[in-house]
Amino acid sequence: MTEHTVPLSPLRKDAVTVVSCADENFTAPTGVLLRSIMDHADPGRFYDLIYLHNGVEPALLEQLCAMAAGKENVSIRCCNIQSVFQEDGLQVGNRLDFSVMTFARLVIPDVLDENYHRSLYLDGDMIALRDVAELFDMDLGDHPLGSTVDFGFLSSVYTDNAMHAYAKNVLGLSTPDQYFMAAVLLMNLDQIRKIHPVASMMDTARSRAWLWHDQDVLNHLFQGQVQYFDPAWDVIVPDHGADGMPEHWKKIYEKALAAPCLFHFAGNHAKPWKNCNSCYAADFWEIAKRTPFYKQLFSQLCSQKPAYDRLYSPASGAVRRSLRQILPPPTQSVQRDLRNVLDTLDEQTKTLLILMRQLAPESIAPPSATEAALPILPVFPEAVTVVCCGDERFAAPTAVLFQSIIDHSDPGRFYDILYLHNGISPHTKSKLCAPAAGYANISIRTCDIRAVFAEIRLFTENRANFSPMAYARLMIPDILGKEYRRALYLDGDMIAFRDVAALFDSDLDGKPMGSTVDFFFAAERQNSVRAQYVRNVLGIDSAQEYILSGMLLMDLQQFRHNNLSAKLMQTACAQSWQWHDQDVLNKVLAGQIKLLDPAWDSCQIGDLSDRLPESLADAYRRAVAAPGIFHFAGAGAKPWERTFPYRAEEFWMIARRTGFYTDLLRRLHLNLNTYESYYSTKGVKTSMLKRILKKILPPPVESVQRDLKTVLNAIDEQKKLGLLLMQQIDELRGSQLRNPSPAAKVPHHKLRFEFALAAHCNLNCAGCSHFSPVAEEEFPDFEESKRSFTHLSNLFGGECDYIHLLGGEPLLNPQCEDYLHLARNCFPKGEIHLVTNGLLLPKQPDSFYETCRDAQIIISVTPYPISLDHEAIRRRCESFGVEYRLFGEDQCKTHFNRLLLDVTGGQDAAENYRRCPYSNICLFLYRGRMYPCGIGAHMRLFEQYFSAGLELTEADSVDIFSVRNGADLLYQLAKPVPMCRYCRQDRWQELAPWGHSKRSIAEWT
Ligand code: SF4
Ligand code: SF4
Repeated sequence: MTEHTVPLSPLRKDAVTVVSCADENFTAPTGVLLRSIMDHADPGRFYDLIYLHNGVEPALLEQLCAMAAGKENVSIRCCNIQSVFQEDGLQVGNRLDFSVMTFARLVIPDVLDENYHRSLYLDGDMIALRDVAELFDMDLGDHPLGSTVDFGFLSSVYTDNAMHAYAKNVLGLSTPDQYFMAAVLLMNLDQIRKIHPVASMMDTARSRAWLWHDQDVLNHLFQGQVQYFDPAWDVIVPDHGADGMPEHWKKIYEKALAAPCLFHFAGNHAKPWKNCNSCYAADFWEIAKRTPFYKQLFSQLCSQKPAYDRLYSPASGAVRRSLRQILPPPTQSVQRDLRNVLDTLDEQTKTLLILMRQLAPESIAPPSATEAALPILPVFPEAVTVVCCGDERFAAPTAVLFQSIIDHSDPGRFYDILYLHNGISPHTKSKLCAPAAGYANISIRTCDIRAVFAEIRLFTENRANFSPMAYARLMIPDILGKEYRRALYLDGDMIAFRDVAALFDSDLDGKPMGSTVDFFFAAERQNSVRAQYVRNVLGIDSAQEYILSGMLLMDLQQFRHNNLSAKLMQTACAQSWQWHDQDVLNKVLAGQIKLLDPAWDSCQIGDLSDRLPESLADAYRRAVAAPGIFHFAGAGAKPWERTFPYRAEEFWMIARRTGFYTDLLRRLHLNLNTYESYYSTKGVKTSMLKRILKKILPPPVESVQRDLKTVLNAIDEQKKLGLLLMQQIDELRGSQLRNPSPAAKVPHHKLRFEFALAAHCNLNCAGCSHFSPVAEEEFPDFEESKRSFTHLSNLFGGECDYIHLLGGEPLLNPQCEDYLHLARNCFPKGEIHLVTNGLLLPKQPDSFYETCRDAQIIISVTPYPISLDHEAIRRRCESFGVEYRLFGEDQCKTHFNRLLLDVTGGQDAAENYRRCPYSNICLFLYRGRMYPCGIGAHMRLFEQYFSAGLELTEADSVDIFSVRNGADLLYQLAKPVPMCRYCRQDRWQELAPWGHSKRSIAEWT
């Protein structure tokens, strides 16, 4: 790296010039800012990023500049400005966390030579969430400076007389609303050089102790000459919150906070490397992970004072006073308990942070996106076409839907998935399209439809959570090119539980559209306002005819032929509709909609079945019990807004595999009403605190109650951070296995597993994959098995895909019938097979067949080349009403695949797992632990007999009693395990003729 000298010359005429100034302490956060700028950079623009400092360690500067290595459109240059920036006389003593380098932005017009005409200054404690070129290109008019209003100032100036007087008398502001932030400055350098040369600005800076330093200097000098930008370009969280702001500013602020373009960690407590709970901290750390400064920043965070001291001693003086003075002795135990809770949580947080640091991948390249042009042309012929419509905010849940569609997709079909939007950021596009990467049969594209979809005339203000984009679905037939004949529209707040191709192929019986009945509406009382509206305004008499618009299967040709999109949009614009597009569709297409299986738009908030007409109640129950698509419809149903709505677990299991995971978690984080959730619901750890507040404390201590609320909120924040970090750690663990080798598989939705009733066998096949020929006689312990089966049953609600009871030879187990009953009692739903070589079947007593019949056990016989009268067995099974099948293949098993091992463990575990035909399919239960395959579960038998040195550990299986739920178990089993390194996948295609084992190691190696 070359240290550059003053003045700097431009590298390119049309570059986006961004300057930041700081001392050594701020180099690492500035690195995060620069990374975020690069993340959102337009590949067609050049970014000239300049870091001005006062003597920073060369190694740090080296790391900073290296971030741009290999990037053709980005340069990072560092420049020591001590020769032009004289620090003497500058005063920052009123705030310990400020360095004199805060004034350095004033010398930028001299540090950049006269060939620079414009530059954008940014504070280092920011992250960009949009392309800063948009800001750089903004029109300054005649103004020398562009900036944003200071919300921090606004939040205090109206309630603090001293501040108001300072603004008026010292800064000379006619109204405090003029006060702007100096963190984001778009500079017209030519004009500034002319009207306020650097030397004069620096004289003003030295002329007094300014309360807010350079910012006050700039406000004093440039008042009335500033172009104000959208405040989203410098969003902070004011120390005093938004409450002190005038109402109109509050609204503007809340809008900016919801969708910042640049987020500014202004204030000591807001910096994520000092306070991991601060707003947008999760986004900061997401970016920081991809810089060379990650560990340094984490060390800084971990060295902060414990949360208890922060929260309880300095900030919560009133709590201390209240608890120590107002309250009598019994509350000292409360005080101690509170301290313990906080300390414990703090320790947990630190541990998690350290773990996260250890697990963080060094670099994750943002994926690329595909934006389609209008009209959209198909990528594949005859594809399953899925269309979603939404805005920037809805992209995140929609990505989860896309991931779930892919999870259940048929490798033999093509899926053409589209997201129609009204302007979303390039980064969002990238993350949205990312799940399709690596699939030859799946395409995800985005398309900006603003050119054909005018939102202006649509009415949505009657419902705050609706975007005009809700109407975009009505125009799908016109937005998609004529080559598209059918499209499946889905709301973004859904997840698929089955392959949507089955829905896409549904017969519409000649109707232009298919949808599902709206159970919410059907459950309404007939005299309700809503029911009357539907009858009188929409003209629909039967509750069973009103459809949901969350899922629409459209025959595009019929839509076009009958000009239906135009009719729908015309109706949409005619008036305000209670339920927007849904009402419009119901009104215009009444009688022309094919009702499809409601499982394809299954919604659940509470149980509606008692309120539904008899004719719908059953269909509703079926749809809810086994959804094809689940719809998080309605307030309180969305997992990113509420803690545990229906199917939230499934949502998060999918969400964690998308690029929006932390974004969604953050939204959940922001949405939770922390105090209320603690205080009014059945919070476990807060019962003690509730007792304090409601019973122990008498009325006079309301202030204590308020302060305790602060502490509770802080505890809650800690807990949520813990949750966030744990989820991220899970994610990182997963990504370590998946990246760069995408070894992890899609977890199954239902449980399927195998279980051995005996380790040994009566047939002794050479190369047996369960190593039975070398096994001692071994049966599972029945009571232990019962605990495991019962626990699995609880985890999966008594439902399984299938269970294979096998061995060795399962009929050698004298308690075989007990096991058959056990399996069926625990899993009333699902197939259960007894997999046997059949040798002992002819000798089984009638009770055995009666048990199989009563427990609905399928007898599956593996057809080895041995003397066995299959026909006689079949007849006997049939005589008892028991199903008989050949297991695996109809042909006699004359040859075995050689499932060979590499006893050195020298194989690539992740790659083996990825290619393995058994992994994630033949889960195997053994002594309360689940293995990803039967081979792995039996390797111990091989090792016991040959002592070959195989090292088998707990990491090779999952303790079924330790998982959070069923989905967690399947998720954990969908990843490679260390013992996969012993499998010789490359030689598993080799065949060996069936024969008797000589118990030689060569049969398996
Ligand atoms: S019958 Fe099956 S379990 Fe028994 S030795 Fe043969 S392959 Fe192994
Ligand atoms: S140990 Fe791994 S690679 Fe070997 S069979 Fe099991 S899952 Fe497959």
